[in-house]
Amino acid sequence: MIRINDPADCCGCTACASICNHNAITMEPDALGFSYPKVDESKCTDCGLCEKVCAFNEHYDKSLNLPKPDAYAARHKEMDEIMKSRSGAVFVAISDYILEQGGIVYGAGYKDHFRVAHKRATTKEERDEFRGSKYVQSDLTGVFRQVKQDLKNGLTVLFSGTPCQTSGLNRYVGKTLRENLVLIDIVCHGVPGPYIWRDYLAYLEKKQGDTITMVNFRDKERFGWAAHKETFTFGGDIK
Ligand SMILES: Cc1cc2nc3c(=O)[nH]c(=O)nc-3n(C[C@H](O)[C@H](O)[C@H](O)COP(=O)(O)OP(=O)(O)OC[C@H]3O[C@@H](n4cnc5c(N)ncnc54)[C@H](O)[C@@H]3O)c2cc1C
Ligand code: SF4
Ligand code: SF4
Repeated sequence: MIRINDPADCCGCTACASICNHNAITMEPDALGFSYPKVDESKCTDCGLCEKVCAFNEHYDKSLNLPKPDAYAARHKEMDEIMKSRSGAVFVAISDYILEQGGIVYGAGYKDHFRVAHKRATTKEERDEFRGSKYVQSDLTGVFRQVKQDLKNGLTVLFSGTPCQTSGLNRYVGKTLRENLVLIDIVCHGVPGPYIWRDYLAYLEKKQGDTITMVNFRDKERFGWAAHKETFTFGGDIK
């Protein structure tokens, strides 16, 4: 069974929890809100599947990796789309295509009070929530199983996330279902802890004496491409 001795050996992708047929693994937050697997040994049959699926395991199957990847540089044709996305809106161009073909798109959006979590979209309106970088580890609870079910139902699925999330999903889905799965991994230097974000929002609301109604981790339209400034709307006012 999976054992995390060093936190650096786990990205919280949920592949191990998703693959366990005995539901022996739950994802539990640490002090900063990062998710780690916790095994209920009374349910575990020691089948070893959770270790095999983990991208941090030495037996991780790399056979789907391209030996020599092709590289292209691209951006969306419409400047309006580029301004609404974090970078060149390639995610929007590809996800538009998938949705127009009747496919499903998964990406990082918000649940509850701006808690960053992966969600499922079947329309461009739902997909638009995934635009823009959210600099927080995204909650993937239940998402990998949902992706697999969509693939088993014959749907084409686009999943966008960090490279460690896409590698976990790739392995969890397996070779046969992989044919209808499009993976987009963003350029990523790492994700901050969810509780830092949660506590920062609480701090700002207390200071302001008002509730946050909108967040933007990087507002290109107001601060340009280079600035790394969050903007918040409190009951209608941008701060
Ligand atoms: C945690 C993080 C670290 C980053 N580090 C770097 C870096 O080191 N260097 C660099 O050049 N760029 C970095 N970026 C920026 C990132 O590569 C761009 O946001 C991305 O390229 C935007 O492309 P786009 O305009 O096509 O996407 P958009 O249309 O803006 O869509 C945003 C995409 O990012 C995904 N996404 C957003 N937040 C998260 C999240 N928390 N977890 C998983 N997926 C998420 C969405 O699902 C969507 O696919 C980082 C972004 C994030 C979220
Ligand atoms: S499969 Fe993912 S969540 Fe499970 S131990 Fe490996 S990296 Fe962590
Ligand atoms: S070894 Fe098998 S039964 Fe035990 S936690 Fe891992 S996947 Fe579940």
